Amino acid sequence: MPEVAERPDVRTLDNFIGGRWVKSHATDFFDVHNPAVGQVIGRTPLSTAADVDAAVQAAARAFPAWRETPVNARAQVLFKYKAQLEEHFDELARTVTTEHGKTLSESRGSVRRGIECVEVACGAPSLMQGLALEDISRDIDCHFVRQPLGVCAAIAPFNFPAMVPMWFLPFAIVTGNTFVLKPSEQVPLSQRMMVDLLQRCDLPPGVVNLVNGGSDVVNAICDHPTIRAVSFVGSTPIARHVYQRASHAGKRVQALGGAKNFVVVMPDADLERSIEAISESFYGCAGERCLAGSMLVPVGAAHRETRDRMVAQAKALKVGDGLQPGVTMGPLISAKHRDRVVGYVDKGVAEGAKLLLDGRQTRVPDRPNGYYVGPTIFDEVSPTMAIGSEEIFGPVASICPVETLADAIAVMQAHPNANATSIFTSSGKSAREFAKHATASMVGVNIGVAAPMAYFPFGGAKDSFFGDLKAHGRDAFDFYTDKKVTIARWF
Ligand code: NAD
Repeated sequence: MPEVAERPDVRTLDNFIGGRWVKSHATDFFDVHNPAVGQVIGRTPLSTAADVDAAVQAAARAFPAWRETPVNARAQVLFKYKAQLEEHFDELARTVTTEHGKTLSESRGSVRRGIECVEVACGAPSLMQGLALEDISRDIDCHFVRQPLGVCAAIAPFNFPAMVPMWFLPFAIVTGNTFVLKPSEQVPLSQRMMVDLLQRCDLPPGVVNLVNGGSDVVNAICDHPTIRAVSFVGSTPIARHVYQRASHAGKRVQALGGAKNFVVVMPDADLERSIEAISESFYGCAGERCLAGSMLVPVGAAHRETRDRMVAQAKALKVGDGLQPGVTMGPLISAKHRDRVVGYVDKGVAEGAKLLLDGRQTRVPDRPNGYYVGPTIFDEVSPTMAIGSEEIFGPVASICPVETLADAIAVMQAHPNANATSIFTSSGKSAREFAKHATASMVGVNIGVAAPMAYFPFGGAKDSFFGDLKAHGRDAFDFYTDKKVTIARWF
């Protein structure tokens, strides 16, 4: 295959600034792959600080008129956007699968979740309201209104290209802010399409801008004096970096980081009805999910049955190209990430965990160049091993048997990440005990993936979240607005 630069079918992406697609100033580029087949399908320009500045200037110019646009008129843009997203739903889902690898049904689910954020943001005329109280003192009244901040930016990870940007974009603009989006350089195609669709909705130029790139763009966003608020989703080290750098520059920041999620199974769990949800937690989206189960913690007598059913369930998965019917688990995002996940499995073996199912040699015959790792299961994992303590972000389940619910809670509490966790039980008492003491902020009871809907807050705790206000739900209206209090007396 010729070099990408020579291939006419491989397009270099543009940035979207001031209502137009424009060339980046980039001199470096990142190849976008279809991970199912291992083929280059696009090139992401690694844009510069000058590109970020152009986008921010366009957003700043658009801000005064956009904030004066009545909130219901801003919401009308989002109603149109929802219609566009529904009309192009399948095309968008196929794009997600093509650039990311997850199965088409998983991509559809993620696009649906993204649309749900648009729907919730359409409620801005109600959700953006403030409060008023008369006679706080004799003849003095007080009220507060929520006002937009100005230019806001969001930085997205690779694992949910159509969903994660929607945690921010609709809420930011419906509240009257203007916006700069930076997609992951690994998956820029769905977001290009989503911005194209938004342009069909009578959105004034400059309200939404998109700058492609990598760390230079992220750092320029953190440093830019005009940007008022930054939302970040990605791994813990970069979340911490963005939180520190952007807040040091005086910005409001929410930075959602990585995860190590514990799924606890009690001896009284109804495994017959739960095992599919448990398996799906570990292997859905090939484990590339911040809510994915990573450590499976059976308590006491639950160990044997949980282990045996997990192995049977995992063996029944069909690994392959997510666009093909019948495939239940797609590839990993890149060859580099596949090698990293395989490296973790090697480490688990070296550290003495018991390998029950080995996905390292999984090959898909008609997709020999895809980045596949099959479902993998370790037993007898200790929380001090690399596979027991680090985020693998792949289809690897580590079984860590314990004696009591208190032991399970202690194992979870000792971990620095605290994103999501689940318990499977038929005891309300155990569930209550678990939910009360869980360090993670998203808790599932007989639910494998505790993903809050768009009208609830999304985000973890400890090293999984840096900031205060979380993504979507009512928090989004707080994050994207300043509460201005007026105290008035009339003579
Ligand atoms: P990542 O941290 O590598 O990248 C995220 C973003 O940061 C990308 O846009 C990338 O371009 C940028 N970036 C990467 N390295 C950088 C650097 N050195 N300096 C500045 N910017 C940099 O994350 P990823 O691999 O794209 O996504 C997977 C991670 O995201 C996992 O850790 C997963 O748990 C996490 N995640 C968390 C949530 C959540 O809700 N907490 C949701 C989705 C994904």
